Amino acid sequence: MATYQLALIVKNTNVEGFEFLVTKQRRPSEQALEGLNYVDKELYDLPSAPLARIDGRSLNMSPISEDYEGSLDVAKIVTSSIQKLGLKGFDVIDAISKIQAQVAPASVALTPWRYWKLVEETDWGLQLPVHTVIFMTDFYIDKSEVPGGREWLNSQTTMDILVQWGAHSTRIGPLAALAASTHVPDGLVANFESISGQEYPPGIVVLPMKSVTFPAKKTNLVIFSPPELSPQQAEDVSRYAATGDVLICDPGCVGVARAELAQIVKSLPRKLLVFLTHHHSDHTDGLPVVRKNNPEAVLLAHEATFRRMGKATKGFKCITIDGGSKLLIAGHELEIISAPGHTDGHLAIYDGATGTLVVGDHCLGKGSSLLDRTSGGNMQDYLQTTRRLLDLGPHTLVPMHGRPNLWPAHMLTGYIKHREERESKILIAIHGGARTAYQIISTVYADTPVNLWPAALNNVVLHVEHLDVNHKLPEDFSMEKFHRSCKSPFIVRCLPAVSMFAFQRPLSRLNANPTSSVISGISVAMLVGAIAFYWAKRKDG
Ligand SMILES: [Zn+2]
Repeated sequence: MATYQLALIVKNTNVEGFEFLVTKQRRPSEQALEGLNYVDKELYDLPSAPLARIDGRSLNMSPISEDYEGSLDVAKIVTSSIQKLGLKGFDVIDAISKIQAQVAPASVALTPWRYWKLVEETDWGLQLPVHTVIFMTDFYIDKSEVPGGREWLNSQTTMDILVQWGAHSTRIGPLAALAASTHVPDGLVANFESISGQEYPPGIVVLPMKSVTFPAKKTNLVIFSPPELSPQQAEDVSRYAATGDVLICDPGCVGVARAELAQIVKSLPRKLLVFLTHHHSDHTDGLPVVRKNNPEAVLLAHEATFRRMGKATKGFKCITIDGGSKLLIAGHELEIISAPGHTDGHLAIYDGATGTLVVGDHCLGKGSSLLDRTSGGNMQDYLQTTRRLLDLGPHTLVPMHGRPNLWPAHMLTGYIKHREERESKILIAIHGGARTAYQIISTVYADTPVNLWPAALNNVVLHVEHLDVNHKLPEDFSMEKFHRSCKSPFIVRCLPAVSMFAFQRPLSRLNANPTSSVISGISVAMLVGAIAFYWAKRKDG
């Protein structure tokens, strides 16, 4: 399963060499939040539009624009090209007209489009991949006729902005980077042809690999192998916690991906640094593969991470790092960012040249991450870290699960907004008299199905603890009683509703598979009965 989009390379025929058009990308909807004024820099990329499914509607093949007589030809070319790719049932006309509106007024002449290539996005695990069918066209009128919000780039300027983004007022998206890279030597990702991934910006490869994590089922392995475009050769190597020729982050793969990891490690330079954002097994499971294929590899992590990993680091040279530590990778400086919240030893890594921030589990490609209270995770640290990451103002966020995010300020502000809204609802419930976990959850999550309430417990505890640390709880609120209420009393209160929910589902499927439904229904009933019996006995005792 995948979704599709159409994109266009508009080549300027008035200049020598390869110069193409990029358009200002639409920002995600506003995340206005009091006191937070973080805004992402403008992002420019190839003009593109989603290819929507027609689903039974018939396609109107009349010209897209009366001013542009070639538009019907374009529709025919695009339709036949994508049919050759085995793609059918898309509203091609709609996508073409949206792209033409981005490119220029209809009166500007373009030559008929020609198919360039299909770019298949890797499967990140949390979101459907978006595959892009890219066409090319020529533009042969004075470019001053193109209105604002459009820029012309060549391969060199694109690379300059990508590898020195801080010096520029705009950012460049992955499709434009791809268009430009066809005119420079093959990227790094070409080394791992059998493994689907993404190299963006240049020198930073992200490969989602099978892991034990849920629901993504994949952990992104990030490889920093800086291109020789902007070496920042350091004079004083002693400033660095570690130096190497290449760095990988979070080898957390299992199963078939272990063979892929072995292949990757073998193909990389021997002077390899392995950076761990934190100790969770879905970030460290591949370490034995790394050790086997490169015994000289050096492990870098926070002291708390090493402590929790125990013997799993055996055989590695380990270097303890923390926020502010600097690394030198092939003459290129990376900075370690302290990022507690998910766990207390959680770290991120920042490439200031490309503005790429690898955030570990602080962010996810989709949704928000769970904080691990058993490993020192807490809301106070999480929110402070989020603000610190906003202050960095990165170009791209690379989470360890899901697609990299091109709107970091938007995503991070959204996290703070989401958590603050939830916390204020919890405080209102507490001021309304709620004192136990069940009372708070049944008020705040009244609109959420009951079977999800146990999963919400961890978040509620984190928020109540955060309110406590900040002295926001009423005086008569007892943290001791609250913590006690999170254990068996909460389970007992939730159990009838959750088991009813579990019982109703098999019943609703009775027609589909009567035997298994009856068996699962009886099982649930027996389980509830057994737990109730055990509980009653304990109370009597
Ligand atoms: Zn984790």
